[in-house]
Amino acid sequence: MKHSDYFRALIQPLSALNPILAVYASAAALTAAPAATLSPLPDKVTPVVPDRQDFQAPDREHLTGWIGTRIDANEANRLVKLDPARLLEGYRKRPGRQSWDGEHIGKWLHAATLAWVYTGDPALRQKLDYVASELIKCQLEDGYLGTYVEKNRWTEWDVWAHKYNLIGLLTYIRYTGNLEPLPACRRMADLLCRTFGDEPGQRDIIKAGEHVGLAPTSVLEPMVLLYRLTGEPRYLDFCKYILRAWEQPDGPKVISTLLTAKRVDKVGDAKAYEMLSCLNGALEYYRTTGEPKILEACLNAWTDIVRNRLYITGASSYGEVFHDDFDLPNVANVGETCVTVTWLQFNAQLLRLTGEARFAEQLEHVILNQLFGAQLCDGSAWGYYVQMEGKKPYTSTLDGQCCLSSGPRGVALIPTFAVTTDADGVVVNLYDAGTARLALRDGTPVTLTTTTHYPADGNIAVAIDPDQPKTFALKVRVPAWCRDSSVRVNGQAASLNAGADGYVAITREWKKGDQVELQFKLEPRVIVGDHKNQGKVAILYGPLVLAADEALLGDNLRSLSAVSVAGTTLAALDVTPEPAPDPVKTWPGAQVFRINAIARKRVGSLKAGTPLQIRLIPFADAGTTGTSYKVWLPVGLASASGNVLLDGQESRSRTGNVDGSIIDEDPHSFVVTFNNQPRAEDWFAVTLDQPETISRVVFFHGQTFHDGGWFDVSAGKPRVQVKAAKDAAWQTAGELADYPATTATDTAGLRGGERFTCQFAQPVKAFALRVVGKPASGDNARQAFASCAELQAFSGQH
Ligand SMILES: [Zn+2]
Repeated sequence: MKHSDYFRALIQPLSALNPILAVYASAAALTAAPAATLSPLPDKVTPVVPDRQDFQAPDREHLTGWIGTRIDANEANRLVKLDPARLLEGYRKRPGRQSWDGEHIGKWLHAATLAWVYTGDPALRQKLDYVASELIKCQLEDGYLGTYVEKNRWTEWDVWAHKYNLIGLLTYIRYTGNLEPLPACRRMADLLCRTFGDEPGQRDIIKAGEHVGLAPTSVLEPMVLLYRLTGEPRYLDFCKYILRAWEQPDGPKVISTLLTAKRVDKVGDAKAYEMLSCLNGALEYYRTTGEPKILEACLNAWTDIVRNRLYITGASSYGEVFHDDFDLPNVANVGETCVTVTWLQFNAQLLRLTGEARFAEQLEHVILNQLFGAQLCDGSAWGYYVQMEGKKPYTSTLDGQCCLSSGPRGVALIPTFAVTTDADGVVVNLYDAGTARLALRDGTPVTLTTTTHYPADGNIAVAIDPDQPKTFALKVRVPAWCRDSSVRVNGQAASLNAGADGYVAITREWKKGDQVELQFKLEPRVIVGDHKNQGKVAILYGPLVLAADEALLGDNLRSLSAVSVAGTTLAALDVTPEPAPDPVKTWPGAQVFRINAIARKRVGSLKAGTPLQIRLIPFADAGTTGTSYKVWLPVGLASASGNVLLDGQESRSRTGNVDGSIIDEDPHSFVVTFNNQPRAEDWFAVTLDQPETISRVVFFHGQTFHDGGWFDVSAGKPRVQVKAAKDAAWQTAGELADYPATTATDTAGLRGGERFTCQFAQPVKAFALRVVGKPASGDNARQAFASCAELQAFSGQH
């Protein structure tokens, strides 16, 4: 495709905004259209690699199904409501309240501009104009537009903030046609070009920020965009310098590692958000220059993530970094939303560049599961780490919460790729009710009107309405999970053979009134866990990953730890959808899914093994009411593991400030005794309903922090104590002999989840059991605390 065509895809909807908005106006009660002031800005540089799919300006599409409700909520309850003063404060009075606080305003400008193009909401446009003009007023004489004071410049997160300011302002300029912030963008870029480089007197960009330089060098993406917009060769030279800096001796070796090791966990320090940000920039560079090694490296990264490092919901990373193959614990700061959104952008870039359906497949999966799972369904709040189990950490504050301004960007991007055009015609990537008003590459207007309750229903009707009869392809994506599908064109069965790009192309002369009916049979699937999820299953239904949710358990069960699924086969589980009950009915088509389960352990009067039915909920809506949820569900009885403590009640010397459990069989979910006070001893205990005979106790260390979290054994190893009867005194029965030689300040290399054992000389009868020791203080001697991930006890056989 020629560059002019590429840009037309961006420009046309803007010049055509008026009539389209008139359509929206009747539906959304909008009164003013911003089209009169629009003056889209063409790129000066034609990309060497033409896009295979033409992404759309968001106003081309209007989605009214489940995806549409999430997009509307994102604008109405998040983007419109953010206080400009909060976004601007770190720039108006440097430094910001926090080291990367400067990123929020650019991320907001990006998301809010896309949202405004989508709705035409004049209130949002007004806010955009205000924020953009106030931001550039904060630029210093030399072009600096970060939140650091002069002496601390270029040490942490201010190249990073310039990146987001460029992304936000360039998006604003492009879609509004308001050129006012362009000189400010050039001055920012010129400052970066003067400051960083490999000429004498210039700074090393790798040392100008965090994560082996992955953070500052991710400014690559908007520097490429600015080069294309302005045609200034020095901006492209700067991009080339970044690629050189990646490969310098102390650099993150982004491209070379992906070409040789082909593993993202070996790039830099494996920090996922910053790395994916760099790769999104690398793909923009590839589009511009056509350097084939860059695409090869990025495709290697994609393959590696999909094969080895992707959670079932589309999340990746825990503790914010990529880890070893299949090292995917369910709880351990899993699924940073910034990673979810940059992963979405990475797939969107690859889809645009290659036109291959496999990237659209990943987009649907991450959007319907992990992205919507991170967004509170009313759009007002987001979660930072959205894990495979636990509670969703929804919050509305930006303070220290990078993810709170990333999530809205992911949602705002959806209309750019839901339906696209390509050399052959129209491509449907996502299925949602609504309308797409597109122009084919030859300019022919085509309207697609989709009627469906997908993903609650597998029937999708698409009315195709070209301005005049026209031969072109309608490409549809049969989801990879779907085993039984059909397509009819005006009632006649059509072929479902996918082409080399993975899409089914229906090529014919289309005319007004033509109707395509797709039928995707929605079915449950059981995924049997391996690696860290041995003995567990995950259940999917169509594109949706399901989760158990405390909100849907009966009163008699109380806790998710009381439930196992009834087997590992569909026959045993009998997954049956039904309409969602009120508290979790988040959209008209919302469903829950009844399955067969058993009581995992004794709960009140309910015996272990009692057959039950429970209802699962899509991961996207799980935990919406503040309750605990769980994706990977255990199979069989708790007692099968031989750990006799699983039926007990846990307690500890101090409540602490971490929401975990020591009897959930998850060594990544831990508890601490932290309350910012010193203490001579701390303990972690489990009390049983009836005494058990125990010969071995296993203690899992929780997590090591700079200010404690372990036991100080300088005066003795942690003791294992038992109570022989309910009212008996604690008796020391042994110690954790293999616990390392720690002190109050030295962890002796202790790692989270590490286990230590106490083998009793003789089996003991225990009604309750605890591990007691002296908490450590780390670098803050005014307090001390310990942590524990699991406490287990076994009789002789196990
Ligand atoms: Zn984040």
